[in-house]
Amino acid sequence: TQHLLARVTGASQLGAFLHVDADGALTRAAEADRRLAAGDAGPLVGIPLAHKDIYVTADMPTTAGSKILAGYRSPFDATVVARLNAAGTFSLGKLNCDEFAMGSANENSAYGPALNPWDRTRVPGGSSGGSATAVAARLVPATTGTDTGGSIRQPASFTGITGIKPTYGVCSRYGMIAFASSLDQAGPMARSAEDCALLLSAMSGFDERDATSINQPPQDFHAQMRVARDGATAAQPLKGLRIGLPKEFFPAALSADVDGAVRQGLAELEKLGATLVEVSLPRTELAIPVYYIIAPAEASSNLSRFDGVKFGHRAAKYTDLLDMYKKTRAEGFGAEVKRRIMIGTYVLSHGYYDAYYLQAQKLRRMIADDFQQAFQHCDVIAGPVAPSVAWKAGEGADDPVKAYLADIFTLPGSLAGLPGMSVPVGFGEAGMPVGLQLIGNYFKEGQLLHTAHALQ
Ligand code: GLN
Repeated sequence: TQHLLARVTGASQLGAFLHVDADGALTRAAEADRRLAAGDAGPLVGIPLAHKDIYVTADMPTTAGSKILAGYRSPFDATVVARLNAAGTFSLGKLNCDEFAMGSANENSAYGPALNPWDRTRVPGGSSGGSATAVAARLVPATTGTDTGGSIRQPASFTGITGIKPTYGVCSRYGMIAFASSLDQAGPMARSAEDCALLLSAMSGFDERDATSINQPPQDFHAQMRVARDGATAAQPLKGLRIGLPKEFFPAALSADVDGAVRQGLAELEKLGATLVEVSLPRTELAIPVYYIIAPAEASSNLSRFDGVKFGHRAAKYTDLLDMYKKTRAEGFGAEVKRRIMIGTYVLSHGYYDAYYLQAQKLRRMIADDFQQAFQHCDVIAGPVAPSVAWKAGEGADDPVKAYLADIFTLPGSLAGLPGMSVPVGFGEAGMPVGLQLIGNYFKEGQLLHTAHALQ
């Protein structure tokens, strides 16, 4: 812990951490030492982590990357954090992220960007950019992230680490500051699928305080990851696994370096015994407008709670209550958050609801059905996570739509609520890492982790 705290201080220019609690971490490390000495053999006892600053924690401030939550302290821990703590992990601090998890580059944080440790002139991805940077720079062995439309998978891909977003409902959203509630999921980001499996087992499970939490018995994802397939051999652990390649995930616009690295990963999977089959997800492109209607709609509603009364920032000067609301929100929210509140309010408004929101909901169902069609022909779907490697810092600054378009491969699975992960498979332009995306059917996290583990 001392070693990692020194690394965190030494790497402060990377902007991975928004808050560091050295004293708290050392106290918890000493407690873990006692637990270990007493014979506690839990695999996560004494593992130092750090949490995306979208999880509320009682021992440290929580900002969600926003000025509007400056000075806010939660009276309780998010369920995911509480469960990881109970398993013996502890936190070095809170990690940078895009404001309310809205973004793909960590450049929408009110507290400055996080930098990609492979090339500091490039972005680490987002919105869990600090979580990815912290693992890639070896500041902590693993972190938590959240994924609404790709925010675990895309930064994992951009920084050469492994991350998994489980099936919607597998991890509790209690205490995870809401962006788009029907899409938000928690997940681990780490150096390997094996580490992710151990963390996900501890993080997940039914929670009566989240109405969309799935009531199923606790899962041992590490055990599931290790279950041998029928007919598998040591050389061919993936024998018989059918991997579906959606033809829409390999468009002409996909950059050649990403295409090359992804195909190298696929060839590796074939060597391990898997067979590749072509499938189709015909509404892939529509996932972008559908997501960018539904997510802002939910966000505009969720963010109405930040009104200067209950949490964080309040404008210093105002004339009456309405003026206080207006000034607080005008000062507290950043440009991207305001943009989404306006889009969301518009698509939900009388006269436009049917044309936009309702239409998007219908298409969302069709996108989910397309996956079920594809899973008739394969066990796992594979493709790129993003159309390019990590881009240069500042490149997306004045064109939000460009960043939205780069979410094309992560959004369909998010809208369907399916589990997805990113596994490093090689390097592209300028030596930047490239991740392979694996998407499974509902509750097939074990199969995804097994596949990724075989590659690693
Ligand atoms: N890039 C997407 C967005 O900006 C996804 C973000 C996320 O998954 N939290 O909404």
